[in-house]
Amino acid sequence: MEFNFKQDNFEEFYHIGEPIGSGQFAVVRKCKLKETNVEYAAKFIKRKRTKSSRRGLSIEDIQREVSILSAIDHENIVKLYDVYENKSEVILVLELVCGGELFQFLAEREKVNEDEAVEFLKQILEGVRHLHEHSIVHLDLKPENLMLLGQNSTRLKIIDFGLSRKLDEGVEVKDITGTPEFVAPEIVNYDPLCTATDMWSIGVITYILLSGCSPFLGDDKQETLANISAVDFSFDCEDFANTSLLAKNFIQGLLLRNPNERATVYDCLRHPWIRPVKESQAQCRRSSSINLENLKSFLARKRWKQSIQVVSLCNRLTKSASVRNNGSVSLQEEEEEENFVMSALHHASEEGNMAGINE
Ligand code: ATP
Repeated sequence: MEFNFKQDNFEEFYHIGEPIGSGQFAVVRKCKLKETNVEYAAKFIKRKRTKSSRRGLSIEDIQREVSILSAIDHENIVKLYDVYENKSEVILVLELVCGGELFQFLAEREKVNEDEAVEFLKQILEGVRHLHEHSIVHLDLKPENLMLLGQNSTRLKIIDFGLSRKLDEGVEVKDITGTPEFVAPEIVNYDPLCTATDMWSIGVITYILLSGCSPFLGDDKQETLANISAVDFSFDCEDFANTSLLAKNFIQGLLLRNPNERATVYDCLRHPWIRPVKESQAQCRRSSSINLENLKSFLARKRWKQSIQVVSLCNRLTKSASVRNNGSVSLQEEEEEENFVMSALHHASEEGNMAGINE
């Protein structure tokens, strides 16, 4: 389905609710369509004012995200319902995904065996199969972008198509940067990207899901990228004490440097860990479990990083005030920047408070 960017006033049609998420250039809020009272998530994406501006996204990038979301329709992928635009932002009206992140959901359980973990992995693979069948690569698959539809739902949804690309035959795609921990060697080495690039990230996600450890994470970004480039990972005995051999074999098929040798999404869906063919394989999955203690620590470290994000947003606010005092940027532009940062800050600090309570 193609979308016109509606120029109407968004607030005439929707009630805007509380912030529920934020990204580098987007704030996501609950909203309700006045006519039907149905709730959605409104992603307010900040538009670049000028070509050279570093604040916001270019209209071409936003159009790409919209065009990809409109081309896909799958139960494991967030749906786009409508698009509005004004001078300073584009608003995507998305399906409201309110069950929280998959990893958080699992970490709150007392025990999760591999059988249960695979049910979620299958949904990731089904969503990615749909993308790859349409020659779309997500390029930012990571735990934060895997959410559950509702509080009582185990339906998984892949979100955030901000870095996604449609692969056109004969056209090389290179200039993408995802989150260092999850990117494939071809991204680190600036080689062409392909559907296998997503499969690497699924390997990293599965590794963390089972062990609570990040396979390539170094002390800093450079070290992480060097570890990825050297495919320097192992299955530490303690972290993987309750992991099946089949699960490790599944991961090994994905964390391969050469994208052509990596398992495709179809290979994965046929892998005996995902679809056991013998009772012994099913049994070994049932009797293996994920490392919940480690997974909890992994999430706690992530919340710590979020607190740092709050500090950096505060700094951005201070900078923005000093630029305003300089008089080098228009008042309206500065107001927009401040509104955006305040909204992101509000959301990020709420998350920080939650982290404090949960610790
Ligand atoms: P990033 O800078 O990390 O790439 P982004 O600016 O592209 O992010 P998203 O990742 O799409 O923005 O959204 C930011 C956050 O908002 C998500 O991590 C999630 O918590 C929340 N969010 C996004 N889409 C939805 C949705 N449809 N329903 C509920 N929450 C959502």
